[in-house]
Amino acid sequence: MRAVARRGRPQNDTCMTDFDELIERNRDFAGTEAKNAVPDIPFIPTRQLYVMTCIDPRVDPANILGLELGDAIVARNVGGRVTTAMLQDLAWINYLHEVKTPHAEWFEIVVIHHTDCGSGFFADDDLRQGFASRGFDEKQLAELPVIVPSETLRVDVEKLLAYSNLSPAVRVSGYSYDIQTGLLTEVVRAESRDDRSSATKN
Ligand SMILES: [Zn+2]
Repeated sequence: MRAVARRGRPQNDTCMTDFDELIERNRDFAGTEAKNAVPDIPFIPTRQLYVMTCIDPRVDPANILGLELGDAIVARNVGGRVTTAMLQDLAWINYLHEVKTPHAEWFEIVVIHHTDCGSGFFADDDLRQGFASRGFDEKQLAELPVIVPSETLRVDVEKLLAYSNLSPAVRVSGYSYDIQTGLLTEVVRAESRDDRSSATKN
């Protein structure tokens, strides 16, 4: 038995799991028109946004950005860091754009890192080494902690802009999310490689 009462269901109901309640919500959802208000081409979201952020449940883009179904592609991992796996997914979407919809408008990427991020535990030597001993690369883990979002955002935005599998037309920006205030702050203004090279020419 759980000591803490869960929101929205009786404490002594042992037959239901947390997910049963969500199945009911899914039935409600399926009964509405919301499922139909989605883009025709799934890799061209309604708002042409590709959001990269942390898996932390307090940083759900649907809530903090008020995203509707189909508005954005959302990629999440621990910290919202630009890792090899993140880059591969992005390269795939970029490739589909080039090959299947070459005349469509490009999406833009928004990277969001946040305060009080659990990825900070990777900076703890004991935790990082203990986890690495389960078969992970400690050097790579050591690059993951988000301690000061404005610093890691700059690193990751540069990494994206330097990525050869990303179209030079795609704009990338970086925002820090404050868990306490619920507010986003711009750290890196939206810019593409094309923007940079035309700025250099002028
Ligand atoms: Zn986090």
